[in-house]
Amino acid sequence: MSYVAAALRQQVIERAESKCEYCLFPQSLSFLAFEMEHIIAEKHGATTAENLALDRPYCNRAKGTDLGSLDPETGQLTPFFNP
Ligand SMILES: [Zn+2]
Repeated sequence: MSYVAAALRQQVIERAESKCEYCLFPQSLSFLAFEMEHIIAEKHGATTAENLALDRPYCNRAKGTDLGSLDPETGQLTPFFNP
């Protein structure tokens, strides 16, 4: 996990209203601390508010560094939802 400056972290948390930006689960109901996730993996993207998402660890692990996946119905490469 990379370093995110406190002010930038707070900006993302406020934008997200302290909810996971993928599933909207509230941080206040989570046993685990939410994380700052790079929407486009850090090795390809920047550490900016636009490229960071507040998310719960479960959602972060499920997405990983992927940007999309194959749609099981169409077989088409489909980008993930960008919060
Ligand atoms: Zn989530």
